[in-house]
Amino acid sequence: MAEETIFSKIIRKEIPADILYQDELVTAFRDINPRAPSHILIIPNQLIPTVNDIESDDEVALGRLFTVARKLAEQEGIAQDGYRLIVNCNAHGGQEVYHIHMHLLGGKPLGPLLMN
Ligand code: AMP
Repeated sequence: MAEETIFSKIIRKEIPADILYQDELVTAFRDINPRAPSHILIIPNQLIPTVNDIESDDEVALGRLFTVARKLAEQEGIAQDGYRLIVNCNAHGGQEVYHIHMHLLGGKPLGPLLMN
């Protein structure tokens, strides 16, 4: 069994977070350390630590991440100008929290994907 992270506590509302959306499969909340005017994390409610742990049974929940990203981008007013979706994996990918999450970033020109 993978070890729970702080994100499981956010899903269960045991610690505060600015939750923008929640359904039976996914939860979306504002990143505590925003790197853009809009910076939202969208996560499956079920713990999947990294992209390396994805199984075919996870496809519905992971597909939902994109549907919710699309809706939240519209809600944030950033859909037309554009935005970036990022999923980091393990150390070289810069992953800090081992509960898979999609970053939705926008609200300003984000520049090139990799800056170093
Ligand atoms: P990553 O580097 O892809 O694992 O991103 C983890 C993200 O989680 C970072 O952008 C953090 O700022 C964010 N984060 C960590 N703890 C919290 C929290 N309690 N509430 C909201 N965002 C968080």
